[in-house]
Amino acid sequence: MMRKPECDYDVVIAGGGAGGVGAALGAAKAGARVLLVEKYGFLGGAATNAQVLAYCGFFQQGSKPIKVVGGAADLVLDELRKLGLDCEPFSSPTTLNWIILLEPEAVKLALDRVLADNGVEVLLHTRIAAATRTADKIQSVTLAGMDGRTRVSAKSFVDATGDANLSLVAGVPCRVGDLEGKLQAISAPVRIGGRNQNVPIDREAIKAAFKFYTGLWPSARDDGGIYTEVPNTGEMWWMMFDHQLSDLSSGSFSQAERAAREAAHGYVGLLRAHVPGFERAYVVQTGPQIGIRESRHPAARYELTHEDLATGRQREDGVAKAAWPMEDHTTPGQPIYTSVGGDGWASIPLDSLRAKGLDNLYFAGRTIGADPRAYASIRVMGTAFATGDAAGQAAAVN
Ligand SMILES: Cc1cc2nc3c(=O)[nH]c(=O)nc-3n(C[C@H](O)[C@H](O)[C@H](O)COP(=O)(O)OP(=O)(O)OC[C@H]3O[C@@H](n4cnc5c(N)ncnc54)[C@H](O)[C@@H]3O)c2cc1C
Repeated sequence: MMRKPECDYDVVIAGGGAGGVGAALGAAKAGARVLLVEKYGFLGGAATNAQVLAYCGFFQQGSKPIKVVGGAADLVLDELRKLGLDCEPFSSPTTLNWIILLEPEAVKLALDRVLADNGVEVLLHTRIAAATRTADKIQSVTLAGMDGRTRVSAKSFVDATGDANLSLVAGVPCRVGDLEGKLQAISAPVRIGGRNQNVPIDREAIKAAFKFYTGLWPSARDDGGIYTEVPNTGEMWWMMFDHQLSDLSSGSFSQAERAAREAAHGYVGLLRAHVPGFERAYVVQTGPQIGIRESRHPAARYELTHEDLATGRQREDGVAKAAWPMEDHTTPGQPIYTSVGGDGWASIPLDSLRAKGLDNLYFAGRTIGADPRAYASIRVMGTAFATGDAAGQAAAVN
């Protein structure tokens, strides 16, 4: 008779955003039995649940795109290319950084495929709801899904939930926001259809249109916002609504979600009424949820610092590279960029991906250890794939 394995999985990963997908691929490539658990019915994290349609952090800042992220992320880019996205570095005219433009349905399908091809088991519509632990290890997690509650055990776990939801239920101390508890602004990008492609987008006309706004949620941006084309669709992507969240309660999020939807429809109504080319424009999609830049930071063994990034510190224990500038959104709608110094990238050490006091919990994506200013760089999705890849590999050999 075959012996039942001591654990159900080698690695359980909470969250299917860039960090979680990177971790799942990293762990699977290292030979682990991997389960990835995602609360929505699709993967992609902020790219697909909040319309964040550009991968940042793949390239250094500068006149030429120098790539700093590969490994698991390249498997994802290859899959996206098969679905018709060119994945070429695009220099954002508004921020002068190199990004990769996305189309959300391609992201969902590419991630389904790449995880299946690499043998990762995925449970969608399932949330990590609780954890059991000893003094220094997580033993099991409770999954809440369509079939009720089940418990799975694993040798190691990765918290890639963005909001540190696994760490929270495992009793890891968490800082909320910056050192004073202030959170980076939330924002609600929207996709717009029906625009006349033959009429160039007129930023001055967009700015002027906002003089007519009479709704409850005036935009914090006075520059017409950030917009791009969504590849292969004819749609426009537009970020114009930003909001300061005072806390992480469901009540505050509910109010913000309602405000963001009102704003999206109100703002697109302004475009229709006042901006040439938008006469037949409509909201293709908001959400499914508002874009959360910052929430909880679980205690890590090392917090990457602003100085590490400002000086481009390179370390022997580095497992990933941070190259995106520190993009501070403390004031809604008014981002401030501070470049990474040195050679244009800084090392992220393994200790930033390890929980303080728990030997088998790793962090990936925006849960990794970073001080408030360094966090404003490492949270982007390119870097999240890289920290995920490293966390998954480390978890697999723990
Ligand atoms: C408005 C806005 C604009 C941004 N612009 C950019 C940009 O242009 N480019 C860029 O690269 N980055 C951008 N960012 C930052 C980036 O999107 C996030 O920091 C990044 O997605 C973090 O990746 P992640 O995998 O750590 O978390 P996420 O992408 O948030 O993924 C976490 C996943 O975990 C799941 N989850 C949460 N709790 C549970 C649970 N208990 N059980 C199971 N699953 C759970 C969530 O559903 C989600 O799928 C932006 C962010 C915002 C909010």
